[in-house]
Amino acid sequence: MEGRAGKPIRCRAAVSRKPGEPLTIEEVMVDPPMPHEVRIRVICTSLCHSDITFWKMKDPPACFPRILGHEAIGIVESIGENVVEVSVGDTVIPTFMSDCGDCLDCKSKKSNLCSKLPFKVSPWMSRYESSRFKDLNGEVLYHFLFVSSFSEYTVVDVANVVKVDPLLPPNRACLLSCGVSTGVGAAWRTAGVEPGSTVAIFGLGSIGLAVAEGARICGATKIIGVDVNPEKFEIGKKFGVTDFIQAGNDEVKTPSQIINEMTDGGADYCFECVGMASLVHEAYASSRKGWGKTVVLGVDRPGSQLNISSHEVLHSGKSLMGSLFGGLKAKSDIPVLLKKYADKELQLDEFVTHEVSFEDINKAFDLLIRGECLRCVIWMKK
Ligand SMILES: [Zn+2]
Ligand SMILES: [Zn+2]
Repeated sequence: MEGRAGKPIRCRAAVSRKPGEPLTIEEVMVDPPMPHEVRIRVICTSLCHSDITFWKMKDPPACFPRILGHEAIGIVESIGENVVEVSVGDTVIPTFMSDCGDCLDCKSKKSNLCSKLPFKVSPWMSRYESSRFKDLNGEVLYHFLFVSSFSEYTVVDVANVVKVDPLLPPNRACLLSCGVSTGVGAAWRTAGVEPGSTVAIFGLGSIGLAVAEGARICGATKIIGVDVNPEKFEIGKKFGVTDFIQAGNDEVKTPSQIINEMTDGGADYCFECVGMASLVHEAYASSRKGWGKTVVLGVDRPGSQLNISSHEVLHSGKSLMGSLFGGLKAKSDIPVLLKKYADKELQLDEFVTHEVSFEDINKAFDLLIRGECLRCVIWMKK
């Protein structure tokens, strides 16, 4: 390690060169961190659906060649100027959401949407609009979600790292980088689910299951899962799902009609985790008039529109809100969730269905695409 600070590092990365084609493990050069940046040695990373979305995508904001990956944990190898928050050797979780701690939004308790380094699907680092990666021919490799963790080393802005307890198992802690935090946070922070409340979750993929887990921890007594696949109920039970509706199975009643009957007037909290405008409407219709809250977590096609009448809004008194990263402030909330894991309140083990070595990263893609896995952890070295 000694002597590499300030110099480029040559290491292996899994590069996405063409849409939908297997990643290639190549030697790349990783520049030293600029001011306010840190260079991290990645311990392990896991695969999230957004990686697959941008790997398959042919048009902008997709771009190639790119180093994907945004759920990870690593150790700080070197730091740029003006970095005081973390030191060399610290264990950190990188996050795609910045938490600069300095802007109006970061200072407010009401928001996790940093306005100084706002979230965007950019090919660059967040602060300088430039890349720290090159291949051995000198060609620039693009970043992904300010993290790019499919590399033995990566550079991340200090606003996008959270210092964590080094004794936690890395193949569990890394899940809090994106997916599990998003779902659990949506129930805990965005919705503020209370003990005894009723919850409906549309889509029981890993985000929906994480919402169930969050709702379970918050003390919800009825957690209704809605999915087209009936096998999701068995999986969902492990995360607190108490009731199940197979979408499209009832030829007479819609899921919202069934939920209204089951809850005597609508669920307190509804979550859309698929990314379909029609399902947002269905979730909204499932929530209780007067106080029902619907939280949108799913990522729909750009430009897709909601169609809710203003009368419906006026007469129902319901809320509809979006939630990026579960409304969590990364630096303060991730350590709270890790403490809940250490105290055996929050389940993380159950999300990890597969683990592979870095050489087998393309297997992780196959597993997730075939729907055979919730989270596949990829170990950089084993
Ligand atoms: Zn900020
Ligand atoms: Zn993700």
